[in-house]
This record gives sequence, structure tokens and C-alpha cells, in this order.
Amino acid sequence: MCGIVAYVGAERCAPILLDGLRRLEYRGYDSAGTAIMEGGRTTILRAQGKLNNLARLVDEKQPQGTVGIGHTRWATHGRPSEQNAHPHKYGRVAVVHNGIIENHAALRAELSGAGHRFASETDTEIVAHLIDDELNRGLEPLAAVRAALGRVSGAYAICVLIDGAPHQVIAARHDAPLIIGVGEGENYVASDIPAILNRTRDIISLEQHELAVVGEVVRIFDAEGRAVDRRPERILWDAVLAEKGGFKHFMLKEIHEQPRAVTDTIRDRLSPASGDAFVDAEGLDLAQTRHVTIVACGTSWHAALVGKQLIEGLARIPVEVDLASEFRYREPIIGEHELLVTISQSGETADTLAALREGVKRGATPLSICNVVGSTIARESRGVLYTHAGPEIGVASTKAFTTQLAALVVLALHLGRRNGRLSATQAKELITDLLAIPEQMKEVLDHHATVNVIARRYAMARDFLFLGRGINYPIALEGALKLKEISYIPAEGYAAGEMKHGPIALIDEHMPVVVISRAAPATRRSSTTWPRCARGRARSSPSPRAATARSASWSTT
Ligand code: GLU
Repeated sequence: MCGIVAYVGAERCAPILLDGLRRLEYRGYDSAGTAIMEGGRTTILRAQGKLNNLARLVDEKQPQGTVGIGHTRWATHGRPSEQNAHPHKYGRVAVVHNGIIENHAALRAELSGAGHRFASETDTEIVAHLIDDELNRGLEPLAAVRAALGRVSGAYAICVLIDGAPHQVIAARHDAPLIIGVGEGENYVASDIPAILNRTRDIISLEQHELAVVGEVVRIFDAEGRAVDRRPERILWDAVLAEKGGFKHFMLKEIHEQPRAVTDTIRDRLSPASGDAFVDAEGLDLAQTRHVTIVACGTSWHAALVGKQLIEGLARIPVEVDLASEFRYREPIIGEHELLVTISQSGETADTLAALREGVKRGATPLSICNVVGSTIARESRGVLYTHAGPEIGVASTKAFTTQLAALVVLALHLGRRNGRLSATQAKELITDLLAIPEQMKEVLDHHATVNVIARRYAMARDFLFLGRGINYPIALEGALKLKEISYIPAEGYAAGEMKHGPIALIDEHMPVVVISRAAPATRRSSTTWPRCARGRARSSPSPRAATARSASWSTT
């Protein structure tokens, strides 16, 4: 999700919108645009790439309007391009949107059947069409937006400008943040506080499903259209803290974004009703897949190791995992009818891209798991499972990793259902479990105070050991990598059962051992279990000697 800024006031709005978007630039984006009200109608300016491209357009066209909306886009549906950049205008309605409209395909088909023509590949454009339809039915602007949103499922923060209603911006949100800035004779809307912090510190946060009509005054409504009374709060954060959403570091902010990111990655790809899992791979039938090779680097490689266990466990297809940087320097055995899965957050990792090209040269079918829409790896693949993690600014991967795991589960379920190794009943149970994960992640994150205490206790440790079995073995490797990257404390990840074959000699009372273990089966709700290889609990004290090592318990389900 990227940036939204809107302004309603007496000043020329183009410079205010551009300035607000610049303040959100640190989050990354692929294109930008504005819609500015002039003579009762909106003028749209959009440009691919850097904000300077949009600024040049604004310089050229000199829009004078004092009411407008602006957007920086992080593509989720439709490649990065000027045509897909926001705002999207249809009929009288211009809209900017952060998030994902999940039922976009069904709505697009329905609207196309009714004669609508679409100008972009985005999910967002649907919203403009739906609102325009409601206006044509005679609804007032606010009622039209409310009615249109009633047809939409997914995550959205939107700002809407309507031709003929020149003094207001209508804003609404669900599962994506949106705030209103209250000024002196002018008001703002933004996706994040830093966008407008230099203009006002009086902020109203919109709650789930709320709408606002932002004009000379700000009026807020709940989903049923009832007026809500909400006073602004004074924000005392400085600009740097505001950029991090009040967290100390981007990494911490991104850790707390995981429940939302995982929801966005799985929600429209899993059907608990039918037990189906969907992979965006048009024309690519994975039912005949006999062998899978996954290549990746670093954290993505750890995700790949989990993916192996998931695919082998749920679809019973053999999987080989390779480091992308090794794959291309040997003679890999890969050929026709083999699926080559590449995993890369950026979709630009040089080694992974080279491995993909090597596999394609040998006849393999490439499928990728990437976070950046339209990236090179995504473009060169036959199918892509996008992780909807949003921009990741922290250098050490967090939400990108967990969304990769989520995407791999979707892939494993899809393969298992397509080749018939996984029954609909089993799949439905697993999907129901999966859809509960974001809430469980929130519960884990609620323990941050305990994590702080544990971290302080072990901060001076000389080195760490991470242990896990089955699926938790790669998680142990990832834990050790994260600790090395962030704390500069040497750490090693080990398969729990391998302890006795070596590293046990390193352990004394000064070495913390982190053991990643699953909950006992009795605490599980469903009877269908995750891959067999991952069942069983890791031993919580790998050896009598290890048992003397300092320990703190931390259990997850
Ligand atoms: N899903 C929308 C798109 O792909 C919005 C992306 C965003 O949040 O920037 O255009």
C-alpha cells in the first residue's frame, strides 16, 4: 500500500499534494498522480516513475484548483505504468486507492457485461465505475460512495472527487489506514501522518468502515450512514517518528504489519467453502507437475526450504531447493515439464534472475513468488504469486518472509488439489486454519513486552543456537540469520536432531538456545495435519547438557 494525500482549502493544491507525496516517498512507489478540481471538473495528471515526472507535468499544466487528491502507487494488480497509475476516472468520479479489491474480477466481469469499458488493469478502477453507476441512479455523492463500497470486499483506503461536487473530498477506509488532518479553514486526508504533519498536527483517525465528507468542515459517518462525533487528537510525534508510524524502527513497524500483509496475501486465494487455492498462472495447468525446483537466496531460501516440506507433504511432489547463487554455477538437472519456482522479495535479485533464465533455457516452466508487481523476475515467469506485503524498508526481511511462507502454502494447496493428492475436506480444514493465522499473529505480537524482557536478558550473549525440526528447521535458520543481521551476535540454526552430532559441544551455561516447537496436537482444532514431516515436536531440551543452558520459554501454536 502506498500514499494518499488530499487537500480542500483556499490555496493552490498542486504544490501541497506534491509536497505531501514527497513526504511519503521513503516508502517506495512505482508511479504517481493527482486529480485536481477545476471549473467543477477534475483534471487528471499521472506519470510513471519518480515524483519528479509528475512534478514536471504539473509545471507544464499549472492546475490552479484548490481541491485535489494525490497518490503514489505500489502496484498490486496491473503492472506499473502511466495507464495504471491513480487517480482512475470514470464518468464523473475520480478515485485514489490503497489496498486490494478482492472481488475485482467478478465485478469487472459484471460491469463489462453491462457495457462498461475499462481503461486500466487495476482493481481500483472498478470503484470509480461502481460509484458512477450509483450517481446515475440518482444517489447523492456520499450515499453513492457508501452504496458502491457495500459491493466491494477487501482492503481499501480511498479518496473520491466527483465532478459537480467541487468543494469536497469523500474518504473511506476498511483494513487500510486513512487519517484526516484538520486545519484553519482547510482540511486534509492522508494515508499516513508524515504526509501532512508540516501542515497540521490535529488528526482524526478514521475507523473501520467509516466514511468522511471533507470540505470546509469534516463530517464523519459510520457504515450505516449515521453521523459520528469525533474530535481531532493533537499529534506530538516529530517527523522521523511519524514516518515509522510511532515505532522505533521501520523493522519493528513492518513486524507489526505482518497480520495485514499475510491477510492480503492469502485472503482472495483461498476458498474455505470449496477447498480450492488459486494461483495466478493463466494458461498454466499445474496438475501434471511431477517435480519442482525452488531457487532463492538468503531469507527467501529459508522460505523455499519450508515450501519443500509443504509441497511434498500436501501434494506429494518431490521438491529440490537450491541457492540461486549455486544453481547457475553447476550443471543443474532440470528440464521440460518441471516447475521452477523462484522466490525474491524485490523480483530483481540478480542470482535468482540468472537461475530463472538458466532453468528456462533448459526447458523448465517458471513460476515466481515476488513482492514487486512488474519486476523482472515476475515478467519473465509464466505465473506469479504476488506477496502483498507492501514496501519493505527495513533491510532485514520480516513481513516479506512471512508472506512468502503464506504464498507457498497457497501453492502447495493448489498443487495438492490439482493432482488430487489432497481431498477437498482436508483442504477446507487447512484453509480454515490458515485464515485464522493473521489473528493468531496479532496475539503473538501483543506479547511484545515479554519479548523485550527476554531480549534484554540475553542481549549480552556471545552466541546463540536456534533449533527446530521439520518446518521449524528452516525457521531456526531464519531466526539465526535475523539475529546475526540485526544484533551482530553470531548465531547458528540447526536441525534439532542434529544437535547430538556436533554443536552440543559448544553449549555451556552461557549459551542461549532458542527452540522452535509446535503446540501439542491436543491443542489443535482441526484433525487434518500439516505435512507429516513437520508433525512431531522438537525436543525442548536437546541434551542433558543443553538443559543447563539458560532458557526462557516462548510458545506458539
Ligand atoms: N491495488 C491498487 C493497484 O494496484 C492499489 C495499490 C496501492 O495500494 O498503491 O493499483
